[in-house]
Amino acid sequence: MVNVDFNLFTHFSEKFSLSTDKVILNTEHEQQYTFSDIDKTSAQIANYFIELGAKVGDRISSQIEKSPEGLCLYFACLRAGLVFHPLNTAYNSSELEYFFGNAEPFAIVCDENNITLIESSLNQCGCVKILTLNGDGDGSLIDNSSHCSTKFETVPRAEDDFAALLYSSGTTGVPKGIMISHGNLLGNAKSLVKAWGFTHNDTLLHCLPTFHVHGLFISLGCTLLSGASIRWLSAFNINNVIKYLPGSTVMMGVPTYYTRLLDDENFTGQVSHNIRLFISGSAPLREDTFALFEQRTGHRILERYGMTETNVNTSNPLKGERRAGTVGLPLHGVEIRVVDDDNKTLKTGTIGNIQIRGSNVFSGYWHLPEKTAESFTSDQYFDTGDKGKIDEDGYLAIVGRSKDLIISGGLNIYPKEVEIVIDELSGVKESAVIGVAHSDFGEAVVAMIVEEQKGSLNEDQIRSLMKAKVANFKVPKRVIFIDDLPRNSMGKVQKNILRDQYEDLAQ
Ligand code: AMP
Repeated sequence: MVNVDFNLFTHFSEKFSLSTDKVILNTEHEQQYTFSDIDKTSAQIANYFIELGAKVGDRISSQIEKSPEGLCLYFACLRAGLVFHPLNTAYNSSELEYFFGNAEPFAIVCDENNITLIESSLNQCGCVKILTLNGDGDGSLIDNSSHCSTKFETVPRAEDDFAALLYSSGTTGVPKGIMISHGNLLGNAKSLVKAWGFTHNDTLLHCLPTFHVHGLFISLGCTLLSGASIRWLSAFNINNVIKYLPGSTVMMGVPTYYTRLLDDENFTGQVSHNIRLFISGSAPLREDTFALFEQRTGHRILERYGMTETNVNTSNPLKGERRAGTVGLPLHGVEIRVVDDDNKTLKTGTIGNIQIRGSNVFSGYWHLPEKTAESFTSDQYFDTGDKGKIDEDGYLAIVGRSKDLIISGGLNIYPKEVEIVIDELSGVKESAVIGVAHSDFGEAVVAMIVEEQKGSLNEDQIRSLMKAKVANFKVPKRVIFIDDLPRNSMGKVQKNILRDQYEDLAQ
């Protein structure tokens, strides 16, 4: 029995109860979807899953191109109490095999061109139902559910009930499923409506992918919870972004989007005159990008800090000073502290480990109680693996990471995951993967390889072998052959030495 209903979709529909015919999605193909359209299609999909036998808590995996129908799939899962498990479209067979084996989905939704790939990844869970949904909105998911009722009684959900499963690899190279609840999503969306001043008059320019927390929860939550509408672009395409900025009021993006806009001479102050807010997150925004953007447009980009485990933690203020090089102040209900390695809170301005507590923080890693316990302190703070400092006005600056993570174009790459694959290649003795500064992607993946036999391998060969084994964004941009990896007295590879030595490599 649920006393207070935290189902995120229920809260979206309450917002549109008096305006169900409001157009909430306008695509780049000028297709329009009202709230009622989305409500009906998501009801049909939810009814179809129930007809197939799905039970509350079952996972629905999806590896699909971004589309309004894909959004309806997410909403159908919320409505039926199913757990939405979106996957990056770049993942290939060996990556998918792990995710399907671990998430044990009730059904998988994929592009019809990828059915063979999906089937070949189903080693451990061969009885899963496979449905298709293509980027143009066609597919068996829509065909098969078209006979179902367009009405669905959204299932009430408690605060802790599980809404979505997203994976993060971590330093061991084995991806961990992050359990995100309806309460996490609803609470954070409410805080963001307030923090960023969203109203029903806003139009969000949505050009982020929808398999990541940024495009899926952060962008959609506050927009729909305020009854606003969305200019829905299937991808970040610079010409389309410039074309639709004048009709939008808010844009959210990763730093790479902003550097690409600045690189385009058609991006002018005039183009952005209707925008009230540019928001950046998922990776550090360089101070020079912040300054150049202000020079060109008069806008000070609002930088915020979040992660899959926590949604958004801090934000620069809507009104008040937006400080370049900082990620602003804690959101309402979020507690942040910077501690030393013994979890002792450090003095203002001292660099330490960033820890977070609040209703935005996930409940744990899927089937990994020990990893979950390791990630929380005894007083329930989540250890983010990020390093930072808080200034005298409470602004947080992220200065680095204790976790071994590369963020390239806003996508996360855990070096260990790439090293494991490189080390399996014939002729490789050992490897170390690092991130080096890159003007477009923020960071670029670079691999250092020690060969079994010097001179037996080459860069192109390694890159093409890697392309067959891991998603493209994880393939090293450069491969360097070295005689030995630098190690400390404990035998640990000293990646800081490699990073210093090769810092200019990918510029
Ligand atoms: P993800 O789980 O993919 O959202 O990645 C989360 C990680 O991205 C965080 O732990 C940070 O290391 C990094 N991150 C997110 N936002 C920012 C930001 N504004 N500045 C610096 N790093 C960020």
